Amino acid sequence: RSNVITVAPILTKLQKDCATPLPVLRHVADAMAADMRDGLAVDGGSDLKMILSYVDSLPTGNETGLFYALDLGGTNFRVLRVQLGGKAERVVATEFEQVSIPQDLMFGTSEELFDFIASGLAKFAQKEGGNFHLPSGRTREIGFTFSFPVKQTSIASGILMKWTKGFAVSGTAGKDVVACLNEALERQRLDMQVSALVNDTVGTLAGARYWDDDVMVAVILGTGTNACYVECVDAIPKLQGQKSTSGRTIVNTEWGAFSNGLPLTEFDREMDAESINSGEQIFEKTISGMYLGEIVRRVLFKMAEAGALFGESVPEKLSIPFVLRTPDMSAMQQDNSRDLEAVGSILYDAAGVNSDLSARKIVIEVCDTIAKRGGRLAGAGIVGILQKMDSESSIFGKRTVVAMDGGLYEHYPQYRRYLQDAVTELLGSEISKNIVIEHSKDGSGIGAALLAATNSKYD
Ligand code: ADP
Repeated sequence: RSNVITVAPILTKLQKDCATPLPVLRHVADAMAADMRDGLAVDGGSDLKMILSYVDSLPTGNETGLFYALDLGGTNFRVLRVQLGGKAERVVATEFEQVSIPQDLMFGTSEELFDFIASGLAKFAQKEGGNFHLPSGRTREIGFTFSFPVKQTSIASGILMKWTKGFAVSGTAGKDVVACLNEALERQRLDMQVSALVNDTVGTLAGARYWDDDVMVAVILGTGTNACYVECVDAIPKLQGQKSTSGRTIVNTEWGAFSNGLPLTEFDREMDAESINSGEQIFEKTISGMYLGEIVRRVLFKMAEAGALFGESVPEKLSIPFVLRTPDMSAMQQDNSRDLEAVGSILYDAAGVNSDLSARKIVIEVCDTIAKRGGRLAGAGIVGILQKMDSESSIFGKRTVVAMDGGLYEHYPQYRRYLQDAVTELLGSEISKNIVIEHSKDGSGIGAALLAATNSKYD
């Protein structure tokens, strides 16, 4: 029998289980807004942590002077300097460098890691050339993007809750990471100091806001996912009277932990059960780049086993978790050739699979089903945030910009389109004309430097 017929029931069931018709999207958007409200009421009140960023003043474009940014979030750290020239000149000059962190430092002591980072900063600062000018008597100020779970205690302090992403550095958990870095800078006798500690979504929002006053939300769709937005302080009971001069503050939702009412399949449940954080980050596991390719692999493996999609035997390599990556999935969906040659070679290279044309067509359908669910659910999440904002102070009548960043959003056109479609369906064509979803590439680095400027010790 043809493989099209034998796998048809699996495909049909997958499409049914992944379906995101308007009522499902509406439920997800409403649940997102409700979970946000619960997370703002008390710490631990919802799946969403709704972390206070202590960022109450966003860049306006008037910032001037020299500022640095340091981004630590993975196996590299990035340093950047920017000379700001105010409304007229904007970004006069910028330079950046990337340094990879030696493996042994990821398992060493806190002092060793921060000394290494401080010496990287020192070398970078020494190369500060003619386009950059620090007024005399000032120390260099840094915006520090630190993408690990932190309990922020002020704009320039935060306690590390735990290391993630393969880091196992001893002696940092429970400590203020800004103090750790400032102490290392002192040990190097470096004239530099952290003025702002920021999450990468917050950096993205600040970086985009610098160019556009209507930016109110930032979303990262890369390996993982997260979102932050501008909230009214009066809508944050857990703030307990702490005031902000602007009456607004940025809240980091940590929305990857959302889980309410998502359409999940047996493949999602199995992937989650075998993951290192089982039961956690369910929204992230449904919509972000680390997982989409793996969900597709699990579906294809079942189709190969139960429906002989790729012939009588099941290719061994297809049983290995994460061999098929989201960029492979996206590349296959860009293949417009008649015999789907690129699909064939990607399947072969990634998973050792030989495929005929009918199998390739089914593979595309599977990719599309998973990308469609992911993109539409991400869109529903964004609408949830917008609904929550609109309930505090009406935004739907005016232009509002959602700044997007991350490799998944940047490189997966079908996903991007599905996301936009869901937003338009949910909000209707009139309101959605005012909601601008905009790619803001690598804004988080400059965003952190801008937040060092808006929170400068000298103002
Ligand atoms: P990170 O989120 O790891 O900090 P990025 O924002 O660059 O970094 O996102 C990288 C992620 O984006 C990858 O893990 C992958 O899931 C996704 N990605 C990268 N390239 C593509 C692509 N061509 N198509 C779809 N997804 C991609």
